[in-house]
Amino acid sequence: MKRLANLPAMDKAGQVDFLVVGAGPVGLVAAILLAREGWRVTVVEKWPSRYPMPRACTIDHEALRILQAVGTMEEHAGLFEPSRGERGGYQIRNGAGTLLRAINWNRPAESGWANTNGFYQPDLEEVLESMAEEIPSVELRRGWSAEAVEQDAEGVILTMSRTEDGSDQEQLRGSWLIAADGANSVIRDLLGIESVDSDFEADWLVVDYVPLVDRQWDAFVTQYCDPDQPATAVNSGPGRRRFEFMRRADCSVGELGRSETAWRLMEPWDVTPENARLERHAVYTFRARWAQDWRRGRVFLAGDAAHLMPPFLGQGLCAGLRDARALTWRLSMVASGLADTSILDSYGPERGAHVREIIEEAVAVGEMVCELDPRRAADRDKDMIALLNDPEAVTVEPPHPKLGQPSITAAEDGNAGRLSVQARVEVDGVSGLYDDVIGGTWQLIGLDVDPLANVPAEHQAWFARMGGTASSLSEDGPIRDVDGDYRAWFAGHGCNVVLSRPDFYIYGTGTPDDVPRLLESLRAALSNSPVYTETGAMS
Ligand SMILES: Cc1cc2nc3c(=O)[nH]c(=O)nc-3n(C[C@H](O)[C@H](O)[C@H](O)COP(=O)(O)OP(=O)(O)OC[C@H]3O[C@@H](n4cnc5c(N)ncnc54)[C@H](O)[C@@H]3O)c2cc1C
Repeated sequence: MKRLANLPAMDKAGQVDFLVVGAGPVGLVAAILLAREGWRVTVVEKWPSRYPMPRACTIDHEALRILQAVGTMEEHAGLFEPSRGERGGYQIRNGAGTLLRAINWNRPAESGWANTNGFYQPDLEEVLESMAEEIPSVELRRGWSAEAVEQDAEGVILTMSRTEDGSDQEQLRGSWLIAADGANSVIRDLLGIESVDSDFEADWLVVDYVPLVDRQWDAFVTQYCDPDQPATAVNSGPGRRRFEFMRRADCSVGELGRSETAWRLMEPWDVTPENARLERHAVYTFRARWAQDWRRGRVFLAGDAAHLMPPFLGQGLCAGLRDARALTWRLSMVASGLADTSILDSYGPERGAHVREIIEEAVAVGEMVCELDPRRAADRDKDMIALLNDPEAVTVEPPHPKLGQPSITAAEDGNAGRLSVQARVEVDGVSGLYDDVIGGTWQLIGLDVDPLANVPAEHQAWFARMGGTASSLSEDGPIRDVDGDYRAWFAGHGCNVVLSRPDFYIYGTGTPDDVPRLLESLRAALSNSPVYTETGAMS
């Protein structure tokens, strides 16, 4: 942490460092990450109380590493139930129950947390909100709607009024603004940013329930591609389950949203009022959409304001948390004078291409699941079964996209722009995850080598000023690779040094001989940002 967060919420000129519109999970995570860096943040939220309806129920390893950085995992890791072991991963079955495809959600993941985890979004939002409220430099203004935004060379002026009756118009001033105001983002519209729509659209009933009896399900998530009634069954965190049902043409949205309909649709799985308590249910229209620009001057889009996807891969919130991390490290470095404002230009291109790949995969799964035509569904089943040599085999890896270009990554490095690694280490008898034990915003890690061996002292000092840490891991040295996960990761990536960014993406890899070059190019990228492309050209 660069500065103590114990600051008044506003400076003398009445300007905070950051304004955040929207106290959903993305806005709150962005606010906490900035406040932990010592910045003053005001969060403006339209509604007086938190959104109570069911939405995200699975979260991936990378998002949990981001929540670890937020400080959530220290006390609240129990909110998340890992998909692992005999309970299986993600299965796609046809109407007759035959396995069509499986996604390996139980794979060992690179972020130090289980690949996929069930959770209950309202519980997470409650924790995030109380964490934000405990930080003196964060002010949460609930019950205020953002209505207008203007900007000049020094900052942004946000006009808001009371949501209840439109009274009490107020203006807030901040150096930068993050629009995390959700799918119907007012800020996005005010800035005139267009979205691209993929034309995917389907209404689904989402039913969260508490099972009253113990029961084993054959997978963490099962998609039932039954043209008579497409459905999803999923673990939604400790002590909870969820069903989702697609609306058929013969059922109105009103009819679908009734609790009687929810019970009727769950009955074939023997989920009844005798063995389950209905917690919440709501009808959502699943869509796929992404903003064409992620930035206008000092204003940035993040989360659902920037992209929307059908939830078949459980990635909407995960993508939003990636945005929050990718944006806040940049903004914090720029605001503290450690980097040039030009590093902000790569936020949208990097995140946009990454999330597009996930949206496209989510739509592809959605189209498979939402098929209502029995003949086309039968053809689909035949084709998919033909591809499965072993019906019990887990065949497909979850999406693992690379950052888009131009990006702040090393040129001509096949690993750059992919997700980096975190695993358990032990130092002086204390073991834990790397970020907790060693930490560092920028992380330079060598396996069995000193990554700084060839780096001039001046570059080492610069790297430390950036919040960088350097460490040498080994089987039995002072920093132990406890489970051999780093050894396996480095072997898989053909290197023994990695330089990772504050959002856990790889800046570059190589050997200790490559580190001076990597640090020089990073320094150039942060100071006047000649952004390197994959071919090594500068743009
Ligand atoms: C049924 C369903 C299942 C899902 N499942 C998953 C899943 O399993 N895994 C996953 O990762 N994601 C999933 N998602 C997606 C996930 O829920 C969203 O991506 C996530 O909640 C978006 O967070 P956000 O903070 O960007 O937006 P939101 O949570 O929508 O927050 C935006 C906030 O901005 C506020 N706001 C709006 N306008 C204004 C204004 N003018 N002024 C002030 N405040 C304003 C809103 O009141 C709201 O609080 C699912 C979504 C749905 C609908």
